[in-house]
Amino acid sequence: MEDKKIISIITPVYNEEKNIPIFYAELQKVVNSMDKYDFELIFVNDGSRDKSLEELRKMEKEDERVMVIDLSRNFGKEIATTAGINHCRGEACIMLDSDLQHPVEKIPEFVSKWENGAEVVIGVRKKNNGEGLVKKMGSFFFYKIINRISDTKVMSNATDYRLLDRMVINEFNKLTEKNRMTRALIDWLGFKREYIYFEARPRIHGEAGYSFWKLMRLAFNSMISLSIFPLRIAGYLGIIITIFSGVLGLFIFITNYVTESLDFSGPAILAVVILFLIGIVLICLGLIALYIANIHSEVNNRPLYVVRRSRK
Ligand code: UDP
Ligand code: MG
Repeated sequence: MEDKKIISIITPVYNEEKNIPIFYAELQKVVNSMDKYDFELIFVNDGSRDKSLEELRKMEKEDERVMVIDLSRNFGKEIATTAGINHCRGEACIMLDSDLQHPVEKIPEFVSKWENGAEVVIGVRKKNNGEGLVKKMGSFFFYKIINRISDTKVMSNATDYRLLDRMVINEFNKLTEKNRMTRALIDWLGFKREYIYFEARPRIHGEAGYSFWKLMRLAFNSMISLSIFPLRIAGYLGIIITIFSGVLGLFIFITNYVTESLDFSGPAILAVVILFLIGIVLICLGLIALYIANIHSEVNNRPLYVVRRSRK
């Protein structure tokens, strides 16, 4: 008999002691019903401070498919997921949250899209029950801005519930940047994508580990890593100010020497001169920023291109 394909399920865990047993029970049901595949269930404990690890160790003992990666402290979900992807052995991996917000019943659909040729399958949230207005507005603007300023298009409502083909996993593992948003990196990698729509369930136990500020930081980090536009802002501002104050200065000059009817006070003229100089300083900052942007992309050290290798 031919060996079954292995599929790795990767889930980050941070203070989910109440959710873990439920999640695992639901996951088992789904996984057991898909007997064409072997599964590897990777749980990455991201420095939980509750009893999550004990729950995971229990499962690990009873179920040989379970593998626990225990991070030494809380590194954040993005890095926890990365650890899971680095360690998985499957022909494909599926990553999803352990807080029951990503419905495990969808796993067979992810797999069938993959079998039909998709290399990345992305879960897209139809609506999010129980999310505050601030969070909704935040994500709305985040996607608006990031799609404006960056070359990598990020679909709004696209979640971390994703399947990656082995080929994509291998390319993902080559990326070395430290400040990362897993989703954005996967989007940057490209490959053939398919989407699956699902309704996110409300969180039952525990609380969302991402506070407002943690989310803001993530949003800024990913903007900075996907785009150098923020670096250019100073330069643009400088150009605008220089032009504006230059025109104003010229106007003052003309009224003074040509029509000889100066009605600008000394301080007003001084203000225009200073404004002009500030504009020039900002332009210089913008120039420096361009060099920094260059350094930034060299340091990020992403591969120049990614090649799709044909499947065996
Ligand atoms: N998580 C993690 N580390 C963290 C915060 C969260 O591994 O520092 C995990 C968490 O256990 C859950 C997933 O990431 O499985 C999503 O977390 P959360 O529900 O807090 O985020 P949201 O649903 O608001 O995106
Ligand atoms: Mg959640």
